[in-house]
Amino acid sequence: MKWYISLGYGVKFVHNNDRGVIQDFPNSKIFIVEKEYLEMLKKALNGLDLNNMETIYKEKWKETLNFLMLNKLIRFTREPYIKYFHDEWTAGTSIPIESDSISEIKAMYINLVSSCSLDCNACEKTRLFPCISCVKTPDSYRPNYLLNENTIIKFMIELTNHGCNQIFLTGGDPLTEFDKLIGFMDIATKFDLNFFLITNGMLLDKNKISVLKKYKLQILFQIIEDNVEYNREIENRVILLKEYNLPFRLVLNVPNKFILDEKNIRKENIIQNYPHEDLINPFKNNLMRPTMNISFMKQNKCLQFKMYMSQEGDIYPCIAFYKRSKYNLGSLKNRKLSHFIVELEKIWEDKSLQNQFCNDCILNEYCMSCIVLKEQFNNLVKCNMRIH
Ligand code: SF4
Ligand code: SF4
Ligand code: SF4
Repeated sequence: MKWYISLGYGVKFVHNNDRGVIQDFPNSKIFIVEKEYLEMLKKALNGLDLNNMETIYKEKWKETLNFLMLNKLIRFTREPYIKYFHDEWTAGTSIPIESDSISEIKAMYINLVSSCSLDCNACEKTRLFPCISCVKTPDSYRPNYLLNENTIIKFMIELTNHGCNQIFLTGGDPLTEFDKLIGFMDIATKFDLNFFLITNGMLLDKNKISVLKKYKLQILFQIIEDNVEYNREIENRVILLKEYNLPFRLVLNVPNKFILDEKNIRKENIIQNYPHEDLINPFKNNLMRPTMNISFMKQNKCLQFKMYMSQEGDIYPCIAFYKRSKYNLGSLKNRKLSHFIVELEKIWEDKSLQNQFCNDCILNEYCMSCIVLKEQFNNLVKCNMRIH
């Protein structure tokens, strides 16, 4: 059985021919990789399996692997590293990786359009994976708050002042109303923010891509584990995006197989089942579940630092709360962003949002599952991962 490594959550590796740097964003650390280690590390991260690494590089690799584990820079996978896929939750349940202490809000989700080019079964239902990022609301007329240039500028200034650096544009599918999307981007990209376009990708073609290329924008779409037809379409879009050099991210909407595998659900089992137990043993007390950052271990983790704005300009904790009047925090037309941040902070810590069913589950501290989905657990619908 082969094992591979890939970089952990929020860890990046950049290099030239002489040197490399591993950036660990969640822990604000930087590690220099000297030239003599460069080729070896590149090989491991490009998908050479661990047995081969050990055969070729012997003690040097063992030491390096120890170092990478000790500093929690890697995770172990059953598949080689796949360059264009990200199994991090860039949208949805992920925590944005820039974890400075200044930002009060890190990710803003803006609903630009209500229509969509697809008709997914899952639409408007609560979904665990992926975290809900788009829902269409086709039958109603919704005045779009963000039509006015002054409104957009005021909004962008406020977001910047509060440390927000990631804007996710969603819908429906924003590509169904391309002019509106471009109108927004023309104004908004003057601000130093990272823009992500959440789309199902179906309407992406050469013309649209060459227009989108003018903006500082990344395309964000998902690969769905069991939908072969859809994934084939996405594959074609990926070829186009690469051809035009438009940045994109794919979110794999499957959980990390090793970590969430039933056999490995307990931390001790992760250690036991890991094939190089002797290597992992010295660190077993420090071993964290990959993709988790201890500083975010609070109530309602998936909602932290996020804000969602509906087309009408109303603020909610996330798209899954849309139309629930209790969680409609009011309109941005009448209030400043700081007001909403105070209200959101209460929701991020609100224990009453947690389901009793999860209270004695030992995974609760780590569980990033959808709050809205968890609310629905009752005697009939339960989480089958519960361990108590
Ligand atoms: S792509 Fe999103 S908005 Fe469109 S139908 Fe599917 S789930 Fe709904
Ligand atoms: S019961 Fe399921 S949803 Fe609840 S905390 Fe445990 S793993 Fe998470
Ligand atoms: S409640 Fe959390 S996981 Fe569910 S849709 Fe909202 S942000 Fe995503």
